[in-house]
Amino acid sequence: MNPVVIAVAITGSVPRKKDNPAVPVTPAEQVESTHEAYEAGATLVHIHVRNDDESPSSDPQRFAAVKEGVEKHCPGMIVQFSTGGRGRDPSARGSSLYLKPDMASLSTGSVNFPTIIYENSAAFVEDLARKMKELGVLPEIEIFDLSHLHGARRLIEAGLMNARPHVQFVMGVKNALPAEEPLIDILLSETKRVIPRATWTAAGIGRHQSEVMGWALARGADAVRTGLEDNIRVAKDRLARSNAELVSLAAEAIAKAGRRVATPDEARRILGLRPAAGAKAA
Ligand code: ZN
Repeated sequence: MNPVVIAVAITGSVPRKKDNPAVPVTPAEQVESTHEAYEAGATLVHIHVRNDDESPSSDPQRFAAVKEGVEKHCPGMIVQFSTGGRGRDPSARGSSLYLKPDMASLSTGSVNFPTIIYENSAAFVEDLARKMKELGVLPEIEIFDLSHLHGARRLIEAGLMNARPHVQFVMGVKNALPAEEPLIDILLSETKRVIPRATWTAAGIGRHQSEVMGWALARGADAVRTGLEDNIRVAKDRLARSNAELVSLAAEAIAKAGRRVATPDEARRILGLRPAAGAKAA
C-alpha cells in the first residue's frame, strides 16, 4: 500500500487559545507549530489565519506570511489554505487564492453546524472552484454530507474542477455527519462511484479524531488528518501539548496499521501535485 500523507490542521477558525494555549494564532506561532509538526512527520498543513484578537481573518498578508514561513522552514510541505466560512465574510473567503497555495479547501454544499448554517450556495461554490482551477490550486473537497460528493461531481462535469480532487469526509461535527463507522463505508463507496480518481481522507472532530483515523487507515486512505483545529485533547483529562504531539500519535496509528508515513515528495506524488518549487529534479 501507498505511504500515508499526514495532514495537520494547525489552528482552525474557532477561537481555542483559552481552551488550549498550544493553539498557534499569530503567523510566527503558526510557522513554528507547523515546523514542529513537519519534523514529526506532517507533510500537509491546513491553514486558517486569525486577527490578533483571535477572530477569524481573511487577510491575504497573514496567509502570505504563513505560506512563506512554511515554504522556508518545511521544504516540500504541501500548503493548503482554508476557504471555510465560519466567521468570515463570504466575499473574502477566496481572496488569498491568488497567492497560489498548493491546495485549498472547498465545501461543495451547505450544512448545519453546531450553532450556525454553513452556507455554500451553488453559485458561490462554482465561483471558488473556477478561481482554484484558473490558479492551479488543487481542491480538497470537504464532505459534510453525502450530497457534497455530488456537488463535486457536478463541478467536474461542468469543467470547473479536474477529475482528481482530494476528498475529506468530516465526521463528528454536531448537526452534520456523526462519527459512525458504517457511514465511512457509504461515503467511500459513493466517492469511488462518482469521483473514482479522487484521493481521500477522513477527519474526526474532537474526541472522534483517533477512531476516525483508524477507520480511514483500515480502508486504505491516502491521508490522515490531525491537528488542534479538530481536537485539542490527547485524553479526556489531558490537553494536547502541540500539533506535533498529535502528529506523532498519527504516525503511531499509521505504523500500527502496517503502513508508513509519506515523505514530502511522496505526499505530492500521492495527491498529484507538482514537485515543490525549488526542489531538485530527480
Ligand atoms: Zn479548517
